[in-house]
Amino acid sequence: MSENNLEWDLCIFCQTNSKDEPLQNPTAGKCSISGDGYFTMCSNIQIKSMKCLPMAVNSSLIGEIIARLMKSHQARWHECCSNMFKKL
Ligand SMILES: [Zn+2]
Repeated sequence: MSENNLEWDLCIFCQTNSKDEPLQNPTAGKCSISGDGYFTMCSNIQIKSMKCLPMAVNSSLIGEIIARLMKSHQARWHECCSNMFKKL
């Protein structure tokens, strides 16, 4: 896992920028609290990932860690890729 280099300039989910739709950056062009979009996204992601964990952990803590990591790298994604996490 540590040998996989995530390209933060690409969509963090599909790791391409070749789709027709532009990459979404939740911190760009919004007046709301910076990072809000990341926390929204992470709350969707953590629900999926929690099912794979062998023990109960603090889900909000995991969400915050992921969100901070995404925010520090200004993670971007395709809307269609992120939508896959909303269909739970
Ligand atoms: Zn994508």
